[in-house]
Amino acid sequence: EGVNMSKKLVVITGASSGFGLELAKEFAAQGYPMLLLARRIDGLQAYNFKNTLIKSVDVTDYTSFQAAIAEAEALYGKTDLLVNNAGIMLLGSLLDQNPDEWQSMLNVNVMGVLNGIQLVIKNMVAANTGTIVNVSSIAGRKTFPNHAAYCGTKFAVHALTETVRQEVALSNVRVLTIAPGAAETELLSHTTSQEIIDGYNEWKETMGGKSLDPKYIASSVRFMYELPQEVSIRELVISATRQD
Ligand code: NDP
Repeated sequence: EGVNMSKKLVVITGASSGFGLELAKEFAAQGYPMLLLARRIDGLQAYNFKNTLIKSVDVTDYTSFQAAIAEAEALYGKTDLLVNNAGIMLLGSLLDQNPDEWQSMLNVNVMGVLNGIQLVIKNMVAANTGTIVNVSSIAGRKTFPNHAAYCGTKFAVHALTETVRQEVALSNVRVLTIAPGAAETELLSHTTSQEIIDGYNEWKETMGGKSLDPKYIASSVRFMYELPQEVSIRELVISATRQD
């Protein structure tokens, strides 16, 4: 089967689990050619998505990120949507958290997003079209205990997105933020303190055991993207109704 030429290339980072995997399924179902990036790719290959290049890329590695985009664009044409979704959350008290964890979050959640933007935006400006959606968090809009460094990175996503949005607005390029509330993914599993994990899970219980289904992140991003190019949902904050 040939490439659907009416649908342009969608690049999704952090596609191996959680929101990214839902995004991949959502855009695959609509027939978009895709570039899917994550460090782990074995699970992704098993889906046999059509017109899809899957590359093992760490978004903090500018050179391999760039090479993957070049390879996908040679196959499918220029990137029309980049979803900077890859992210990590390592919760901890600033009083005793290992600074390496702050550095990892800054590298992935901030540098990874900046890398992605720079790698596609020049072509988007030249084409006078294109969309970038950066995945922040409600933790990029308000603060929570043990989230100091994570909130720092997610507040940064809003700031850098809005700055770039203004820089390219007159080129008809959209640079948008989606800020989800708590959802069931692998995100919490990387926190090293079991006490903090337990506390987070207790807090989620206050939502009546119903956190946000990741499929709504995927459908929201598609909605933001499929609106006419002249319309920008600059920021979309979405959570389970019962989240405080
Ligand atoms: P998951 O842990 O399930 O998914 C994170 C994804 O990011 C994985 O595919 C992981 O793949 C990828 N990733 C992590 N580090 C890197 C890296 N250095 N390079 C490339 N890919 C990387 O979590 P979510 O789906 O929840 O997270 C997706 C985004 O949503 C994150 O930005 C997160 O901060 C945000 N978010 C999540 C919320 C939640 O409650 N779940 C709420 C609000 C925002 P791999 O390990 O294979 O590299």
